[in-house]
Formats: sequence, structure tokens, C-alpha cells
Amino acid sequence: MSRAIYPGSFDPVTLGHIDVIKRASKLFDEIVVGVLINSVKSPLFSVEERVDMLTEICSDIPNIKVVSFDGFSVDFAKEQKANVILRGLRAITDFEYELQMAQTNRVLNSEVDTLFLTTSIDYSYLSSSIVKEVASLGGDISKFVPKLVIDRMDKKYNDKNQGKDK
Ligand code: ADP
Repeated sequence: MSRAIYPGSFDPVTLGHIDVIKRASKLFDEIVVGVLINSVKSPLFSVEERVDMLTEICSDIPNIKVVSFDGFSVDFAKEQKANVILRGLRAITDFEYELQMAQTNRVLNSEVDTLFLTTSIDYSYLSSSIVKEVASLGGDISKFVPKLVIDRMDKKYNDKNQGKDK
């Protein structure tokens, strides 16, 4: 049974992430999407919210499991009995960091390898931070994230703005 983990912050999940997940689901028997608990200091969405959105969005893909984790990806991979860490590569700017991470991970555990899927051209510019930036300015994010995420983001920013008015 081939199993890979796909670790990330997913704050929030974008169409770029979903594209990677869908393509990877055809390459492996099972993909475990790992939502990193302490990835960013102050994430927009809590880890439960991020897991919840991913679970709902991936519900039509049978071989996907979504869980949260903390600590090293290699330890999470071992815990999940996976020997592949899946990552997405967008532009050359991703490369240096990803190479460093992959090599560090191999030193930490030589039995786990990192595999990269290159982004689909449609999503090569897309990142969770860009989505948050556009949404925080009231822009249209419908080309970046699924409907469910749009609704959750609207709610998040409305709640925040209401908090400010008080
Ligand atoms: P991290 O904080 O670990 O970089 P992200 O949630 O930003 O987590 O991304 C998780 C993984 O998905 C990373 O490997 C990242 O390069 C990849 N990724 C992010 N956006 C895209 C995209 N638009 N196309 C392909 N891969 C992407």
C-alpha cells in the first residue's frame, strides 16, 4: 500500500492545494493531508477550522484523510506509516526552501523521501497569503478558493470588523 503525507499550513486551502491533492490521489493508494498546528504564529483559521474545511472539500475523493499534526513532518510520516512527503512547487522562489527542507528531512529520517508535484499553470501564482491579502481588502477570491472557503473567509472578516466597531 503506497501512502504519502501532504503537510502544510492550509490557512486557508486554495485551488492550488486541491489540484495537488487530486493529482496525488491518482498516484498513491492513500494521501494523508497533514495540517500543521503551529505553522504560522497567528493563523487566520484555527487548526480545527482548517481541518474541517479540507475534510469537507475533499469528501468526494475516497483515498484522502485529513488530520492535524505538530512537530517534524518525518515523524508524522512515520506515525502514518507513509514513506513519502508530498510537496508542491510553484516557482523558482519555492525551490531553495523546499530543497533545504527535503534535504534536512532526509538527514532526520533517510527512510522518508520528498516528492514534488509541480503546480498547474493556472495556480502557479496562488498562495494562501495572497488569498488572505485580497480577501482582507474586500476583493473577489472566487478564482482562488472553493465556495466553502469564500463563505468562511467572509464570516471571518465580518466577525473581525464587527469586533472593531465595538
Ligand atoms: P507551508 O506553510 O508548509 O508552505 P502551504 O499551506 O502554504 O504550507 O502549502 C503546502 C504545500 O502546498 C507546499 O508544498 C506548497 O509549496 C504547496 N502549494 C501551495 N500553493 C500551491 C499552488 N498554488 N500550486 C501548487 N502547490 C502549492
